[in-house]
Amino acid sequence: MKILVTGGAGFIGSAVVRHIIQNTADSVINLDKLTYAGNLESLSDVSDNERYRFEQVDICDKAALENVFEKHQPDLVMHLAAESHVDRSIDGPAAFIETNIIGTYNLLEVSRAYWNQLDEVRKSAFRFHHISTDEVYGDLEGTTDLFTETTSYKPSSPYSASKASSDHLVRAWLRTYGFPTIVTNCSNNYGPYHFPEKLIPLMILNALDGKPLPVYGDGMQIRDWLYVEDHARALYTVVTQGEVGETYNIGGHNEKANIEVVKTLCALLEELVPEKPAGVNCYESLITYVADRPGHDVRYAIDASKIERELGWTPEETFETGLRKTVEWYLNNKTWWQRVLDGSYSMERLGVTAQ
Ligand code: NAD
Repeated sequence: MKILVTGGAGFIGSAVVRHIIQNTADSVINLDKLTYAGNLESLSDVSDNERYRFEQVDICDKAALENVFEKHQPDLVMHLAAESHVDRSIDGPAAFIETNIIGTYNLLEVSRAYWNQLDEVRKSAFRFHHISTDEVYGDLEGTTDLFTETTSYKPSSPYSASKASSDHLVRAWLRTYGFPTIVTNCSNNYGPYHFPEKLIPLMILNALDGKPLPVYGDGMQIRDWLYVEDHARALYTVVTQGEVGETYNIGGHNEKANIEVVKTLCALLEELVPEKPAGVNCYESLITYVADRPGHDVRYAIDASKIERELGWTPEETFETGLRKTVEWYLNNKTWWQRVLDGSYSMERLGVTAQ
């Protein structure tokens, strides 16, 4: 099968592309605009493979999308391209509205026109899989409830509102046009190749550099954490075996307060990197509480029993094993993150030379 993956140069998308190329016989067309979050160096293990192709395209550019469908004739679409960082959505929501809502609308329309002209066999096998977040469900503060596939939407941030909007569009295209869509909503991912603006890589790299570890508010915000390779495997399972029209929640059974995550990382670093930067006695002493994010949700927790029961997927990593692997990966892959931090990963791509 030929699978069109949008956002395949991002954190989760690149894990999906690596998973498909390394573990299946399928081909991948990676369609990505290469925003600041897109990094082709995350695909260096698979980019020489003859089953891998890359197209630098913006999902807001309808004509360019049509060309990609015409040229590559995909059997399945996995849609991950998005603006994904909550803090950036608060500072500048426009790109989130453009890419996450208008871009998804464009992709739905181009995919539907393409699907309509397929022969009956290919048409009935086609799937449009929309990858979304548990943040669309809002805040579970003060309850012990879990998000299920029927929980009402109550997004809090411009990011989660834009993802909620795109989820609604995808479901409307199923209901109105019979277009074969599937939606997955997943909890927080962590693991290799994570852009250093996100909590876990930011804390690892700041600690190694002896910089403050900024924790929002009292650090008691609870998130469920899933190792990114477990998510990639879940997504491939859903796009190949999931039921059209269904939603599957994906999560790791790892509810942790942010401060607990940061302290666990500090303990791992004490063990793995005992020689600390000058002036640092212990990594935990770098923890610095900062003003909370506006509208910050207090607790997310996900019930992933449907995908486990119906599709037989379960996470392979516990939080402890996944976090250790992640810290070890950052310690062993300095070139990848140093080139992200100094900007050279994108400057070379743009033909600009570092001064
Ligand atoms: P990311 O920011 O690391 O990657 C996004 C990718 O999309 C980048 O490669 C970027 O270049 C590309 N992109 C952005 N705008 C584009 C456009 N207009 N056209 C084409 N490509 C564009 O994001 P991620 O963390 O890998 O998340 C991927 C998807 O999974 C997103 O839809 C996100 O909402 C969802 N998700 C993320 C998490 C998480 O914890 N990171 C959890 C659940 C769901």
